[in-house]
Amino acid sequence: MTERLYDDGSLMEFDAKVVSCTEIKKGFEVVLDRTAFFPEGGGQQGDVGRIDGAEVIDTYEKNGEIIHKCKSALEVGSSVHGTVDEHIRLRRMQNHSGEHLLMGFIHAKLGYENVGFHLGSSEVTLDLNGTITDEDLKECELKANEAIARDLPITITYPDSSALASMEYRSKLEMTENVRIVTIEGVDVCACCAPHVSSTGKIGIVKVLSSESYKGGTRVHILCGLDAFELLGQRLEAVAEICRLLSAKPEKAVGFVEKLLGENNELKRRIAEAEKEKAAEIIASLKNDSRKSFCVFTKGIGRDALREVANKAVLLTDGIAGVFGEEEQGFSYIIASANVPLRAKSKEINSALGGKGGGSDQMIQGSVTADKETIEKFFSEL
Ligand SMILES: [Zn+2]
Repeated sequence: MTERLYDDGSLMEFDAKVVSCTEIKKGFEVVLDRTAFFPEGGGQQGDVGRIDGAEVIDTYEKNGEIIHKCKSALEVGSSVHGTVDEHIRLRRMQNHSGEHLLMGFIHAKLGYENVGFHLGSSEVTLDLNGTITDEDLKECELKANEAIARDLPITITYPDSSALASMEYRSKLEMTENVRIVTIEGVDVCACCAPHVSSTGKIGIVKVLSSESYKGGTRVHILCGLDAFELLGQRLEAVAEICRLLSAKPEKAVGFVEKLLGENNELKRRIAEAEKEKAAEIIASLKNDSRKSFCVFTKGIGRDALREVANKAVLLTDGIAGVFGEEEQGFSYIIASANVPLRAKSKEINSALGGKGGGSDQMIQGSVTADKETIEKFFSEL
């Protein structure tokens, strides 16, 4: 069995001997007599890095052995030097230890368990088996960051079964032997197989990003350490850009946006009113004594107003009524008929007028590129 060296989360380099090297589809599975590479587990991905000249692209467990998936082969029996990619590992440990820290305070306050955990580089999620208010979550987040400032020790221990029996700790599995306990002094005791930073100060920051109801409980999105630092930087840049566009100070930006939205809604309401009036004028002027197919042209009204006109125009014909709204290029249309099934007719209309669109047998809508004369001629020959 490989000797596991990652209980010391800061150990990134080590010497070892190659026990076996097996060629697989894409690379080689290398087993060492000892390793600081952490195999995937407990929600945390397997480490990457180098063993001598061979790049390690993943680490996982198979039949109790730790497998280093390498891009090239290593000689069995040779002495090698392993280097874990510390930039990737540090970020994963910051997020994982940060999750334990926050969970410790949530568990102490509400007694909830973490029933689901995902650790990614752009997002970490933890699923609680209960609902938490924003206020309680904020309080736990603040306590977690105060614990970071106090730089509390984080230790790994393997208590024997009798010590374990009298211990209170968070755990997903019912195990009694070889249980690896991660303790954040005075905050949290939890069974976990992954490497952690050695004290809370190294987590840097725990930031709750959002939370939502999930499977009867709550899913909390967080980010810690350098990943959180980068994300907060990006968010601040976005806020700065919004403030530049609004010519507003950050603390006034929300009020500005609310004012703009209010103005926008008022403008939309006025436009809708004006279009309604215009549609009413067009409807009042509609005439079609022959009751043949006919078309009418409008300008400056939207699709809803076009439909209102079409609903009235169709009553004036035994054929087809077309209502065309002038656009920057061509026309948008709504064509209606009480007697002619339009679904079958739409292909002929669209091909004659350079258009596209469709709908039901009673009404079709779309746009055309044909000019006014072509459209009028087409309707007069219908
Ligand atoms: Zn854990």
